[in-house]
Amino acid sequence: MTLISRRHFIKNSTLATATLLTGLPAEKAKVMTVRGWLPARKLGTVLPHEHVLVDFSGADTIDTSKYDLDEIFETVLPQLQALKAAGCDTLIECTPNYIGRSPLLLKRLSEATGLHLLTNTGYYGAVDHKYLPSHVATESPRQLADRWLDEWKNGIEGTGIRPGFMKISVDKAPLSERQRKIVEAAAIAHLESGLTVASHTIGGEAAMEELDILQKNGVSPEAFIWIHAQSETDTSYHRKAARMGAWVEFDGLNANWLTDEAVTQHLDCLSFMKKEKLLHRTLLSQDAGWYEPGKPGGGKFAPFTYLFEEFLPKLQERGFTKKEVRQITRENPARAFSVKIRRQAGG
Ligand SMILES: [Zn+2]
Repeated sequence: MTLISRRHFIKNSTLATATLLTGLPAEKAKVMTVRGWLPARKLGTVLPHEHVLVDFSGADTIDTSKYDLDEIFETVLPQLQALKAAGCDTLIECTPNYIGRSPLLLKRLSEATGLHLLTNTGYYGAVDHKYLPSHVATESPRQLADRWLDEWKNGIEGTGIRPGFMKISVDKAPLSERQRKIVEAAAIAHLESGLTVASHTIGGEAAMEELDILQKNGVSPEAFIWIHAQSETDTSYHRKAARMGAWVEFDGLNANWLTDEAVTQHLDCLSFMKKEKLLHRTLLSQDAGWYEPGKPGGGKFAPFTYLFEEFLPKLQERGFTKKEVRQITRENPARAFSVKIRRQAGG
């Protein structure tokens, strides 16, 4: 070994060791925010599943051009400012196309608050296809993937704003044909973009069906986030998905309808993941927010700050260390949302 290569070796092994110790993504890992590329290490503290705006009209009738963007901006701005003041740096906005996705609004809010915001590509297949455009019935997974890849490469609807991940959704197992098609499209698009697949998934059987489709299409479970994992009360599914390599996300802490039982269930789920030594595959969020067009003043806004003000102290009372909280709220999201192709071994 020459001196130079020895130096390289030492430098590289030091880097590798540092990554192992901190759990942070490798030096070059990047995420795509509504304002462009950002090194994953700079995401800071992250809420991986929230909503700025949701419109429940349905894919047949939704018209995002009617929104009063100034009113929405003024309503949401103080909520995001409060979140930043509570110590959060990044909010991942999970409202898909045809249910109120508004990339220009997000960019404006990001610029005004300094918060990093991510938007998405993909389709929402749950609720019996109410939010799916009609072309999902006739197009192939390849065609759907091409629509999403076009947004990835060229930006969303002429805005130049690129998605930071894919957001899809399915109902309980067994998945419908259209829902299976969406998951397959996500697999195809992942292998050509490296965008993580975050899926609203009710119940462990549906999660297993999605993971099976992804793996059969060559995608590693590491590219998959099981959104709403708390919808499954049998924690053995959480263990199974995390051991496969998937991200398991507990995110039902919306203060508008939060019950004591739900809080306890979230604490129990996190304690279970800790006991199973699976905190390195665990995500935590609230599914809170949002301005709802059609309601006076956008309806009742569930604050984004609940997790920081109320829930994390409860987690520490349960014996979670600062380091563990940091792992869940900073290191894991930085790895989960890094744009990276994750192939299934042997696939
Ligand atoms: Zn949501």
